[in-house]
Amino acid sequence: MKIASVIVDVPAKQTDKAFDYLVPKQWEDMIQPGMRVIVPFGPRKIQGFVIEVKSTTEVKKLRELVEPMDLEPVLNDELIKLGDWLAENTLSFKIFAFQVMLPAALKAKYEKKVKMAEGVYLSDLPLNLHPYFKNGGMLDWDDAIKNGIVPHLQREAAKGLLEVVYLVKERVKKKQMKYIIPLVSKEDLLVEIQRLPANAQKQKQVLEYFINHPHEVEMRKLIAELNVSLSTIKALSNKNLLAETVKEIYRDPFKDHHFERRGPLPLTKAQEKAITPILHAIQNREHEVFLLYGVTGSGKTEIYLQSIQEVINNGKEAIVLVPEISLTPQMVNRFKGRFGEMVAVLHSGLSAGEKYDEWRKIQRKEVKVVVGARSAIFAPFENIGIIIIDEEHETSYKQEEMPRYHARDVAIKRAQTYNCPVVLGSATPSLESFARAKKKVYQLLSLPVRMNNKALPTVEIVDMREELRAGNRSMFSRKLFELLKDRLEKKQQSVLFLNKRGHSSFVMCRDCGYVVNCPKCDISLTYHRAGVQMKCHYCGYESVVPRACPECNSEYIRFFGTGTQKVEEELGKILPEAKVIRMDVDTTSRKGSHERLLKEFQDGKADILLGTQMIAKGLDFPNITLVGVLSADTMLHLPDFRSSEKTFQLLTQVSGRAGRHQLPGEVIIQTYTPEHYSIQLAGRQDYTQFFQQEMMVRRAHHYPPYYFLTLITVSHEQLLTAVSTTEKIVKYVRSKLSSEAVILGPSVSPIAKINNRYRYQCLIKYKREPNLTKTLKMILDQYQKEASKDGLLVSVDVNPFILM
Ligand code: ADP
Ligand code: ZN
Ligand code: ZN
Repeated sequence: MKIASVIVDVPAKQTDKAFDYLVPKQWEDMIQPGMRVIVPFGPRKIQGFVIEVKSTTEVKKLRELVEPMDLEPVLNDELIKLGDWLAENTLSFKIFAFQVMLPAALKAKYEKKVKMAEGVYLSDLPLNLHPYFKNGGMLDWDDAIKNGIVPHLQREAAKGLLEVVYLVKERVKKKQMKYIIPLVSKEDLLVEIQRLPANAQKQKQVLEYFINHPHEVEMRKLIAELNVSLSTIKALSNKNLLAETVKEIYRDPFKDHHFERRGPLPLTKAQEKAITPILHAIQNREHEVFLLYGVTGSGKTEIYLQSIQEVINNGKEAIVLVPEISLTPQMVNRFKGRFGEMVAVLHSGLSAGEKYDEWRKIQRKEVKVVVGARSAIFAPFENIGIIIIDEEHETSYKQEEMPRYHARDVAIKRAQTYNCPVVLGSATPSLESFARAKKKVYQLLSLPVRMNNKALPTVEIVDMREELRAGNRSMFSRKLFELLKDRLEKKQQSVLFLNKRGHSSFVMCRDCGYVVNCPKCDISLTYHRAGVQMKCHYCGYESVVPRACPECNSEYIRFFGTGTQKVEEELGKILPEAKVIRMDVDTTSRKGSHERLLKEFQDGKADILLGTQMIAKGLDFPNITLVGVLSADTMLHLPDFRSSEKTFQLLTQVSGRAGRHQLPGEVIIQTYTPEHYSIQLAGRQDYTQFFQQEMMVRRAHHYPPYYFLTLITVSHEQLLTAVSTTEKIVKYVRSKLSSEAVILGPSVSPIAKINNRYRYQCLIKYKREPNLTKTLKMILDQYQKEASKDGLLVSVDVNPFILM
C-alpha cells in the first residue's frame, strides 16, 4: 500500500496540514514527493502537492487520489523542506509557500500538453505511444489521463524524450505560426526517399531538406525556399513522414540582443582583497554571509562574476538576485557576456510561457547561473555554490503578500543547506545588514573607491524656500535651470529625477482645500493628465476630474503635486529647444518600452531624461554630466520609520548616475528641508555618518535593527468591529509577551480605509520573545475561523517593510 501526504490547495486554517490519500495501483510506481496531484476534497476535486510517500497511516477511511498532474516532481526535497520553513517563519499557509516557488504557468489552469522533446522522432518512442504523437506531437494531458498512458509517458519523460508544455493564454494574443517537423529519423528519411516513385521529385526534395535540417521549419519558409506546394507537404504528412504543428512565437526581450563575450578583468588590489574570503568560502564549502559594501562603480559586479566563475569551475550553480528595475539589458549583458548560454534570466518582462521556459532550463540543469528578481531565489538548482543579492537594501526583496518572505532570509536558509556563501552587495547597505556586519554576524568586505579613482560628483543642495523668497515660483531652482542650459549648449546629457512616491498628483480645491478622495479608500485619487481622469492606486476606482468643487462649487479646483507630465510641460516652456525623454509608469507600461527609451537616450536622441525612481538605477552612460533631483524630501514625510534611510539611499544612488566616465559630474538636490541629516549626508555621500545618526534615531524609538517588528492589521467593513477586534488582539498579545516587548495599538492604519474596509493595527516591537510565534498563530487560528463567516481579515507581517 502506498500513501501520499498531500498539501491541498485550500488556503485556510483547517486545511493547513497534509492529508493522506491512497495511491491507486495504476499510479503506484509513479507518484513521488514534489509532484502535484488531483485529489478529492469534500465533493470537489482539487490540486495539491505530494510532500511525502509512505506505507502506513493513522487515517481510517482513506480516499484515493485521482491522478498526477506532473510527469516529474516540480519541487525537490530541499524545496519541500524550504516550503515548511517558509510557512512556519512567515506564518503563511503551506500551500502558498509551495506555490510561490513555481512559475506562474504552473499555478493557473493552463492548457497542458505532452510533446516530443526537440530532436526526438516518432520512431524513438515505443510503438504503443505512436498513435498519440503522430499528428505533430502534441497530446492533451486530459487525453493522456483518459487513455491511461501517463505511466508510459513518464518513462519516456525520464529518458528526456517527452516533455510537458503549458499553452499559456496571454491577454495579448501571441502570434502563431505553422511549422513542419520530420517524424522519422535521418536514416528512415533516406529509406523513404528510395521508396518514393521517380516522378515524386518535389516530395523527394522536401525529404532531402529534412535530412540536412532535422528540425522543425516554418511552413512558409519551407514552401518558399523549396518552391513546393502545400499539397506536396500534405502528401508527406499523410504518409506520416512529416507533421504540421502550430507554435506560439514568444518575444524574448533579449533575443535580438547581441551579447558580446567578455573575459574576466585583472582585479585591482582592493577587489583582490575583497574576493579572497569569498573564494575561500567557496573552495572550503563554508557557509558565510558577506556584506560587500562599495560605492556604485567600485567594481562589485566584477567580484560577483569572478566568484561565480569559481563556483562553476567547482561544478556548482549560482543564484544572482537583482532588483526588478535594474534587470536592464546592460545588467543582463554583464552576465550573458561572461557566461553565455549558461545563464537563465527571470524577470517580469517575460510572458508566463517564457518564464516557464527559463525555469525548465534551470530544472533540467541546462544552465548554471540564474539572474532574476525576488522569486528567482527559489530557482530549483540542487547544487548551489553561491547566492548573490545585489542592491541588498532594496525593499522589493520583501514580498508583501503571503508568504511574506524576505529574499535575504531565504537566501541564507538555502545557503546553510548547501554550505555555501551568500554575498550581499550595496553602496548603501540596509541598516540591519550593516549593523550585523559591525557585530561580525556578517563579514564586511569594502571597496572604498570607484574604479580608476573617478571622483564622486560634486553635490549641491538647493533650498527651495529661498527660491520662493527670491520670487522664483517654478519647480526649477535658478541654479538647476542655469546648469541645464549649460549642458544643452555643451551637448551633454542631463537626468532629472522626480521622487514621486507618496507625492502623486492629487486634485484639490484652491478655495476651500477640498481634496478629491477615493470613495472606497481613505486616500486621494491620482490625477492622470492623459485621460483627464483620476484613479485610485489601491482599488482601481476611476472618475473624471470635476469641473467645480463638490464642497463649495468653486471653479478653482485643479490638480496639485508635481507629476512627471507636469515637469515635462514646464521644461517645454523654459527650455523649448531641449529634447526630453520621459520615463514613468505611463510611458513604460508596454513591454520593452523601458529598454527602448533607455536606448534612445543612450544613442543621444535626447538631452534630458526625466523620470521617477525607475531611472535611479542601472544608468551608466558616459555623456551624463548633470543630475537634478527636483524634490528630495517628498519621501521623508511618509509614515514609515525607514523614510530617512530610503531617502538617503535614493539620493545617493541618483547622485551616482553622474560623471561615471571621463566627464566630471554635477548633482543638484532641491529640497524644502535642506537641514535634514539624510539629505545633508546624501549630499556628502557619507554613509558611515548616516549610519551612526540613523542608528541613534532607531534606538531612541525602538525600531530595527535594535528591535524586531511584527505588524498585525485588522480590517472589516464595520469600523467598530475593526477597532474592538484589534483591542482584543492587543490585550491577548500583551498577556502572552514579556514586559520588555512594546505593544502599540489599536491605532488606525496610515491608510485608514481600503476598498470600504476600515483598517486598524497592532504593532509589536521586541527583542527576544520565544512565545511570539505561538501567540501569533493562536491569533490567526482564532480569527481565520471568523473570517469566513464575518468577513473579518487579520493579517500578520513579521518584519514588515511597509507599515501602512
Ligand atoms: P559596481 O558593480 O560596484 O557598480 P562594476 O563592477 O560595474 O561596479 O565596475 C564599474 C566599472 O569598472 C565597470 O565598467 C567595470 O567594467 C569596470 N571594472 C570593474 N573591475 C575592473 C577591473 N578590475 N579592471 C578594469 N575595469 C574594471
Ligand atoms: Zn471648494
Ligand atoms: Zn480606492
